[in-house]
Amino acid sequence: MEEAIHDACGVFGAYLPGEDAARVTFFGIFTLQHRGQESAGIATEDEEGNLHIHTGMGLVASVFDEPSLAPLRGPYAIGHARYSTMGSSMLCNAQPLCAVDLSGETIALAHNGNVVNAAPLRQELEHQGAQFSSTTDSEVIAHLIARAPGKTWDERIRFAMNRLLGAYSLAILVPGALYAVRDPWGFRPLCYGRLNGGWVFASESCALDTIGAQLERDVRPGEVLRIDEQGSHSVQGSEPQERKCLFEYIYFSRPDSVLAGRRVYAARLAMGERLAQEYPVEADIVTAIPESATAAGIGYAHASGIPYVETLVKNRYVGRTFIQPDQRLRDQGVQMKFTALTEMIAGKRIVVVDDSIVRGTTTPHVVGLFRRAGAREVHLRVCAPPIRFPCHFGIDMPSQWELIAATRSVEEVRKAIGADSLGYLSLPSLRAAIGREDTGYCDACFTGNYPVPVQMELGKFALERR
Ligand code: SF4
Repeated sequence: MEEAIHDACGVFGAYLPGEDAARVTFFGIFTLQHRGQESAGIATEDEEGNLHIHTGMGLVASVFDEPSLAPLRGPYAIGHARYSTMGSSMLCNAQPLCAVDLSGETIALAHNGNVVNAAPLRQELEHQGAQFSSTTDSEVIAHLIARAPGKTWDERIRFAMNRLLGAYSLAILVPGALYAVRDPWGFRPLCYGRLNGGWVFASESCALDTIGAQLERDVRPGEVLRIDEQGSHSVQGSEPQERKCLFEYIYFSRPDSVLAGRRVYAARLAMGERLAQEYPVEADIVTAIPESATAAGIGYAHASGIPYVETLVKNRYVGRTFIQPDQRLRDQGVQMKFTALTEMIAGKRIVVVDDSIVRGTTTPHVVGLFRRAGAREVHLRVCAPPIRFPCHFGIDMPSQWELIAATRSVEEVRKAIGADSLGYLSLPSLRAAIGREDTGYCDACFTGNYPVPVQMELGKFALERR
């Protein structure tokens, strides 16, 4: 996967009667770190109804320590790990974000996704007197809920859902309760489970496993789940129009997570098997770009009978530093990220499985890495169909003109990246691999069929050009 496409965010919530829920929340967002590494935060409510919040820039483990966690008292907590998809990466955009309603009550909110009508909604809210302290669509959601008509928070959240267009998996802290909310399309994942007589919810089930919670089920598209002293209470906030993100299975989610009942690892294994059926080739070894394509590489090897061999070692911490490489290091490009195990590569015809090709700027370096290590042939197999359209639903993707497949045929892409052959997994095979051949999944970045009308020029900084 190139550096051109990024995870969205991770959200977490916990109600743990008699406990300080912040500590469990810390480990929840720590497990969701792969979904966002720019900033992190936790908000809690204590038994007296006081709100406590701490946010900071950087990784979860650097934002929190014992002294910053200690004041976050109370049984209710929400947490967030951020990658910016709307609004720059800066402290004022770190989440949870707060909004005050007209009676003076404060809510805190953590959001994964992208709201495509955030700009007009923000204008409307500002006219009503809402004071914004960030440039995110997430704060638009918070103010929309805080100012919504309705006697209960259920009613206010449902009102807001009927105004919002786009992707939002939410963790919301209101006085005396937590809410888990998923948009009617279910773009981004959200699930919930039980822990020590309490309740927890998270973007991905791997966060529940880490803290020893029992997964109950996914929060359904359009569902509003309230959690308080009385237990959990579910209402349908908006008519479901299911379009879950296919890319969660290909790249974003952790392989140990279970999405819609399907283990991500198993889905990736099946993607590799189907790639082998669709694009067989004579080769000596199969390998994969670590780590998101590893399972698919193993699947290709199973189905083709060609042995799987590890050929690259990944430096996991590249891209997680604010220190920019100088030009000489930038020219080395991919070598900073991967080191080739030349003994495994030299003289071999190699099938290389990758999760996707986005801009096509990194892939030639990867192919070059194999060639310099002595590969005789490099056959690239990709777990996704060609990406021809940008995502507007919570994934930071380049604009259309930067996508290599937007204007090129598969053969032209093959030539541009320098591989001996190239095969993209077909959309029907991708759907079959995740075990769902129905239309309940978004495929807009492959087909241009956006489930929600979008403005193509809408960008990450839409709320900053003001
Ligand atoms: S456009 Fe692509 S990345 Fe975005 S939600 Fe749809 S399938 Fe996922």
